[in-house]
Amino acid sequence: MKAALYLSLCTVAVMLAGCNSSPGPEKVSTTKSSLPSIATNMNPIVIKSDEEWKKQLTPEQYEILRKKGTERAFTGAYWNTKDKGAYRCAGCGEMLFVSDTKFDSGCGWPSFYAPAASNVIAEAKDDSHFMSRTEVMCSKCGGHLGHVFDDGPNPTGLRYCINSGAIQFEAESKEKK
Ligand SMILES: [Zn+2]
Repeated sequence: MKAALYLSLCTVAVMLAGCNSSPGPEKVSTTKSSLPSIATNMNPIVIKSDEEWKKQLTPEQYEILRKKGTERAFTGAYWNTKDKGAYRCAGCGEMLFVSDTKFDSGCGWPSFYAPAASNVIAEAKDDSHFMSRTEVMCSKCGGHLGHVFDDGPNPTGLRYCINSGAIQFEAESKEKK
């Protein structure tokens, strides 16, 4: 009996962890973690007060980047974007991902198998929502971006599951000035 209950709980946890980093049906939900996140390579260069971020960002960007919120699947601006270009941090403008590494994960969030450079992403353990996940942040401003999972495609096997609200797309033609 206990084993059956445990199994069903595990199944639910696996289902939640699999392709879905959104814990509920609400549009933007805030992660309430009782454990402090420990960033591995975080040393933010851009440091602003909460009030400054609120002024600079849209409410949705603020909720995701500064409050670790998650947009609902298939609602963000970029989950299905296939254009060539770069994805910059919506908080500080750092180039975080390029379209060459974007792939269709079917998850409803923009997914990349690698960051634009190895030092632009900071990671932290995230044990909220009864899941053990790896949170990814912009290493320059500390903004929450999403999570990284190890079920991605070659060559890295990683899947950076990123909120559209945390990034801003810049089409390639615009880059070549
Ligand atoms: Zn940033």
